[in-house]
Amino acid sequence: ASTWANVPQGPPDAILGITEAFKADSNGEKINLGVGAYRDDKGKPYVLPSVKAAEKKIIEGGADKEYAGITGVPAFTKAAAVLAYGADSSAIKDDRIAITQSISGTGALRIGGVFLERFFPGSKTIYIPNPSWANHAAVFKDSGLKVEKYSYYDKKTIGLDINGMLKDIKAMPKGSIVLLHACAHNPTGVDPTQDQWVQISDAMKEGGHYAFFDMAYQGFASGDTDYDAFALRHFIKEGHNPCLAQSFAKNMLTQQGLYGERCGAFSIVCESVEEKKRVDSQIKILVRPMYSNPPIHGARIASAVLNDPALNKQWLGEVKGMADRIITMRALLKENLEKLGSKKDWSHITSQIGMFAYTGLDAAQMDKLATEHSVYATKDGRISVAGITSGNVKRLAEAIYKITG
Ligand code: PLP
Repeated sequence: ASTWANVPQGPPDAILGITEAFKADSNGEKINLGVGAYRDDKGKPYVLPSVKAAEKKIIEGGADKEYAGITGVPAFTKAAAVLAYGADSSAIKDDRIAITQSISGTGALRIGGVFLERFFPGSKTIYIPNPSWANHAAVFKDSGLKVEKYSYYDKKTIGLDINGMLKDIKAMPKGSIVLLHACAHNPTGVDPTQDQWVQISDAMKEGGHYAFFDMAYQGFASGDTDYDAFALRHFIKEGHNPCLAQSFAKNMLTQQGLYGERCGAFSIVCESVEEKKRVDSQIKILVRPMYSNPPIHGARIASAVLNDPALNKQWLGEVKGMADRIITMRALLKENLEKLGSKKDWSHITSQIGMFAYTGLDAAQMDKLATEHSVYATKDGRISVAGITSGNVKRLAEAIYKITG
């Protein structure tokens, strides 16, 4: 028999299946709301002009492409920490953040997962929200952690189950690891309010729990990078020392090449400079046998965008432009559904935030949306708002209306 005769066929990726069905559909007005990739109002991939300018500057600068150190491009990681934690953060001022460049957000989560598996003093279980980004469970399981869930989404209100979430956090064994989406929760688009974050921080403190923030959409949610970092910064003000996975895929290195540059960062807020040094040494020991050192091009671009004051200002404006377009499309979708006479409450579409909206449609309704109206999205009722344009929103609303009444 062949060496690999015992390898079973794995299931296809859910999102890629949608793209294939979309491609095979001959309807000229078909709509793809499956993938979480930003599109402009013409439905086209968008390259941020600030990013384009930064890349041009780098290429013209003719810098070599020698290896970076194990933890990447220092000018990038330094600026990434400032972006997330804020220039006035006590953790930054005290120089107690250990940070490494990573292979985008996924790679950051993986480094974090392995670090916790190796060094977390308590139970090696991580609690993730129900539901969460589909890859979270896989990343943490493959890192050797046990994965459990806490209540997050309330089907009835299509909103946050804050009572269930707080109850679950309080019921966890003391000193548990809890993964929190810092902003623009994927897949639901449901974020805690600032008041609710205060309650979550208090409950986490009470339980002596450890916070692991995943921030894949800073700036992309509200349009304001500081506002989107509220939860992380509040936790630090309250004395938590969390760790953080950052991605630059959605808010900076969007499509047409740069999306694939895979630039992110993983950081651990430590108690002191001395502790940071020890943690940093172990991050290096962990990364070295995984991929030795990260690619530099995307990090150089991100570094130029973050560190050049003019490019930085331009970028912040462009991120806001993307976030505002998403927010406008949410409002238009709701408005069109109401204009059609829908008696359903669609306020969740506008109260949710970020790339994705949880419509509240069930799997059978999502099937109908695809087969009868050529609108493609995941079976859980999640739609990528980034795929909505002023040109297709009316047809989308009609399709949803026909299915939901
Ligand atoms: N975390 C969340 C919640 C996400 O939605 C994503 C991307 O969809 C990621 C992390 C990782 O993204 P990437 O590895 O492309 O940076």
